[in-house]
Amino acid sequence: MKTLSRILAVFSVTTTLNAQTTVEPKDKEASEPTTSPAENKKEEQEKEWPPSGMGLFEKGLALGHIRDNPKNSYRRVYQRTLMPTEPRFYYNAVLTFDDQIVPFTDKEASAMDIMKELEPRGARALFFANVPGVATPSLRPFFKIKDREARKKACRKLLDTKREEFIKAIRELIKIKKDGKWLAEVHNHTAFHQNMRNFKVGTARMDLCIVGIRFVEECLEEAYAAERPGFERQRFFRFPFLAVPRDAKARAKINELFTELGFLSVGETQDSKDYSNGSPDQAYKSLVAARNGKRYQVKSGPFSTAQHPVALFHTKTWYKIGPGILKALDEAKALEDSKDITE
Ligand SMILES: [Zn+2]
Repeated sequence: MKTLSRILAVFSVTTTLNAQTTVEPKDKEASEPTTSPAENKKEEQEKEWPPSGMGLFEKGLALGHIRDNPKNSYRRVYQRTLMPTEPRFYYNAVLTFDDQIVPFTDKEASAMDIMKELEPRGARALFFANVPGVATPSLRPFFKIKDREARKKACRKLLDTKREEFIKAIRELIKIKKDGKWLAEVHNHTAFHQNMRNFKVGTARMDLCIVGIRFVEECLEEAYAAERPGFERQRFFRFPFLAVPRDAKARAKINELFTELGFLSVGETQDSKDYSNGSPDQAYKSLVAARNGKRYQVKSGPFSTAQHPVALFHTKTWYKIGPGILKALDEAKALEDSKDITE
């Protein structure tokens, strides 16, 4: 059985506060130079992050405590930019796209529109999806239902009407493969894209959000089982608006749910605010910063460090931002090809 301690014995993780993390395999059996007390302390701190491996995503796996202190329980809701199982590509970023994979209108792009451009470039994308055709206002009728269980049932009934369309869209994406590599994954971004910041345990809003999260996960399970039998998928989650519940009890409840489902929540290091500005130039700059190992924000430009950058974009803005992203990818490829020739 893969235990946390075994994983920790095999890997060491480097972290910097509020910044980036990388994972480097380290052979414990190999002789190592003597470390200074300062380095020992650093190594002690490094244990804060359970590093790599499929174990992190195992359903129901209790991840243990930080620094052997039972009060510092490992929280899955903490938004990590550590995605140790994500492969590194020539453009040095994990490309992620949020929200609907099937657009509401034909003015908005679909996830397939993105993959049509990424696939010939051998680039990979992670889609954090909501359920097609529903959004937060779709929940309004359910708030009138007084009985808690009846309310959840009614919500589930609505979601079931979207099931077939959603699973079909997921399957189309996750079957895309080039040179033996899967190029697209779909992850959970809740069903209705609610802002979870002010959630309280036992409220209709939180109840129905959980119904939706479970529904999305069920659809993902079914799609992956059909398209990639036996494949052990990573179960990433991204909070809509990156908004984690403020209330401690709500956060604990979501943490429990994430542990049950095997989720790790993912934040970002590169944010070009494409949702509000739809700027191809900002999208481009965010990926150039990634190539140079920097984080990126529109206001601050490139800053700090990001060893394995996670770029956050939105599927629906693709028609606007796409040219900037593709320019950054093509430049990175040309740079890599020129290195191959000179080395
Ligand atoms: Zn979103």
